[in-house]
Order: sequence, then structure tokens, then C-alpha cells
Amino acid sequence: MNVVIVGGGIVGLATALAVKERQPGARVILLEKEPDCGRHQSTHNSGVLHAGLYYRPGSLKAKFAVEGIRRMTRFCEQHAIAHQICGKLVVATTPHEVVRLKALLERGTANGLRGLEWLASDALKEIEPHATGLAAVRVPEEGIVDYAAVCAAMARELSNLGGTVRTHTRVTRILRDGNAWMVLSTAGEFRAHHVITCAGLHSDRVATSSGEDREIRIVPFRGEYYKLRKSAEYLVKHLIYPVPDPTFPFLGVHFTRLIHGGVEAGPNAVLAFSREGYTKWRINAADLADSLGYKGLWGFMRKHRNMAWQELRRSFSKKLFCRSLQKLVPAIQESDLEEGGAGVRAQAMRSDGSLVDDFHLIEQPGIIHLLNAPSPAATASLAIGSHLADRALANESARLAACTISKT
Ligand SMILES: Cc1cc2nc3c(=O)[nH]c(=O)nc-3n(C[C@H](O)[C@H](O)[C@H](O)COP(=O)(O)OP(=O)(O)OC[C@H]3O[C@@H](n4cnc5c(N)ncnc54)[C@H](O)[C@@H]3O)c2cc1C
Repeated sequence: MNVVIVGGGIVGLATALAVKERQPGARVILLEKEPDCGRHQSTHNSGVLHAGLYYRPGSLKAKFAVEGIRRMTRFCEQHAIAHQICGKLVVATTPHEVVRLKALLERGTANGLRGLEWLASDALKEIEPHATGLAAVRVPEEGIVDYAAVCAAMARELSNLGGTVRTHTRVTRILRDGNAWMVLSTAGEFRAHHVITCAGLHSDRVATSSGEDREIRIVPFRGEYYKLRKSAEYLVKHLIYPVPDPTFPFLGVHFTRLIHGGVEAGPNAVLAFSREGYTKWRINAADLADSLGYKGLWGFMRKHRNMAWQELRRSFSKKLFCRSLQKLVPAIQESDLEEGGAGVRAQAMRSDGSLVDDFHLIEQPGIIHLLNAPSPAATASLAIGSHLADRALANESARLAACTISKT
């Protein structure tokens, strides 16, 4: 059996590994357009291991985050990858947020998280002396990790198992070929009984190239970070998050300790003019036209006009960014912040302007597209990969059964 995986981010790598583990005899080829795996979302992120506090019970996100963090932690231990389960605090700063925080605690409990703890403001101070809030929830299972090292270890493991990674290989079209598929790329054609696409910021385009319609599209949202100057790092001991706005899928600017030292603050969420644009002024005409020509984006802007405007202002104003951070840690000053990096989120949107909240797949015989894999997909990658491999192999059994019936 030939299996082609498109996209060498953390999810594509985990999927290729899962296929090879289940079917050691399968010929597994992973195609990645960049010179290396993991060059986009998988390494332009906050480096947090999320345990599944936020997600609707029963959703794929809830299921895969809880399973995923435990598997990712084991993977890091087995491969000696730097990680630390330092715990996270979600802090409510208004009475309204206290109500929402209680609902989050119930959600996390329903999702099966272990050791969740409600903290009054004094108890919060004992753990994070410089954070201020009316109450907090402590999530002890969460932590930080080096996702670049995870991607490198996954690629090594895949090649140890006999899988192949082809870099510098951009997939341009995927065509049906009898009861298999032909994957066309800048480095030639690959025939596959199964194709699984995990193309992140280009997942909608890759899906369309195999004939899917474009009802759902990726809209890129850049997330910008500041770094705390060394002199201010003492203000943050662990991970400090606000209570998220339930109408928006992003978590709000927060403080994250980095696995190799330092503290980051962010990310915000602003519309990006380029799907792989890591600076404010990086514009890609095709990406911009794609976003602006999509009626879903205009519907989204109408619904979230205020929030979009505030995010844009905060992107250009360090003062406003700092003010958001001061809600959590009042002692932070503008002078404590220096510009950090950025990542671009691949967020799927429907044509009515609503955001696709959960992980989202499209399946046809012999092909699966992972269309929406936003946070916490890095944490959950091993669980998502197993799910995709299981779906593909169930599909393969059905295909073989159909071949047998047609031969008899
Ligand atoms: C700012 C930010 C912060 C985040 N923080 C966290 C966090 O702390 N914890 C967490 O769990 N998650 C976090 N996430 C989310 C997480 O990073 C992503 O959900 C995850 O990395 C998605 O992985 P992926 O493999 O699907 O996508 P990607 O890593 O984007 O990989 C997709 C790959 O497909 C390749 N590709 C695309 N098109 C083609 C083509 N035509 N041919 C060949 N190859 C192609 C790309 O080059 C890329 O390598 C964050 C994301 C962002 C942007």
C-alpha cells in the first residue's frame, strides 16, 4: 500500500508515523514544500502543552488535547526532548470573568483533566506573586516544550521506520487515478492508494486541488509577541493566561515561559496579508486577494468589527498591548517589553463568517484532508495523527473489500 502525506508540519509528521506504526509494510512518503519540516505554524507558536481546559466536551479538540498532551509528554521523555510540566494559571480579573472561569473549571473537569484547582486571590499570589486577579484556576498538567525538537525527532523516527520525507516538494494537484490517486508536485508525480493532507495554512487550497469546493477557507491571523527584558522576567514564574472571550477562538494575550529561557507575552490576533507573513508589512497579493474576495471574511468583520479594530490598534500600540498585560501582571511596564517574533494561525472560516472551532476533516474514498487544525493541534498532534491513520486504514479495508467484490 502506498500512502502519501502532504505537509511536513507536526501533524503531517505524526500522521506519517502513525501510518507506519500500524502498517510497517506500507510505503509512506511525506511531501513538504520547504527545505525542512516544521517551518510554519509548528515552530512559530507559543510552545505550550495544552491539556484541554477550553474545549467543548465531546469535541475532537477536547478528546485529542487530553490524550495528546499525555502522549506528547511521553514522546518527549522517550526522545530526550526539552519539556517541562510547569502548570498554568487562568486568571479572572472581573466578576464577569469569575463566572466564565467557573464554567471553564467545569469544562476541564468534564474533559478529564487531572488536578484542576480553584484558587482564591491569596492562593494565586502564593504561586504567582506578581499576578493579580479575583480568582484563578490552576491546570497542573500543562507545560512547555521545544516543538522544533519534536518535529526533528518525528522526522528521524519516520525515517528509522522506513518512511521517506521529500522536502522541496510542493504539491500542485491531486487527481483521481482509477481507484487510487495521483499527487502532482514540483518534484514529480506520486501514485497513492491513500492521500492524507495536513497542509496547515494552505489546507483549503490543497483540498480544492483534489476537487473539493471552497466553502470553507483558511483566513490567516497573525499572532505577535513581545519578549520580557531579562530584568523583568522575575515577574512571571509559570504560564499566566486570561479568561478567554467565548465568542472568539483565540486565548487572549498571555505570559509564557520559554523552554530554553526567557518569557514571551502574546500573541494577539490580527488579519495577516500573507499566509506565511511573519512581519506586519509582508504582503502576498494572492493571499490578500483570496481573503478580501471571500464573503466569509466580510461577514466575520461585520460581526466582530469592534474586536478586529481593537486588535489592529493593539498591534500598532505597545502601550495598548502593555495595558492588556497589566490586567494580569500590573507591575509590567512598556519599558519591560521588547519586540518578539510572530506566528500565523491557519483558521478555517465558513462563508457566513463563522469560524470553524473544532478540528475539521473532509473524507472521500482514498483521501482525507485535515482542513482545520488550529491550537492545540501541536500538543494534540500524536492523537490527531493516530485518528487520521485509523480513518485511512478503515478506508483501505473498505477499498480492498470493494475490489474483491468486483473481482468475484
Ligand atoms: C501564534 C501561534 C501560537 C500557537 N500556540 C500553540 C501552543 O502553544 N500549543 C499548541 O498546541 N498549538 C499552538 N498553536 C497551534 C499549532 O502551532 C498548530 O495547530 C499546529 O502547528 C498545526 O500543525 P500543522 O502540521 O497542521 O501545520 P503546519 O505546521 O503549518 O504545517 C503544514 C505544512 O504543510 C506544508 N505545505 C503546505 N502546502 C503544501 C503543499 N502544497 N505541498 C507541500 N507541503 C505543503 C507547509 O510548508 C507546512 O510545513 C499556535 C499557533 C500559532 C500560529
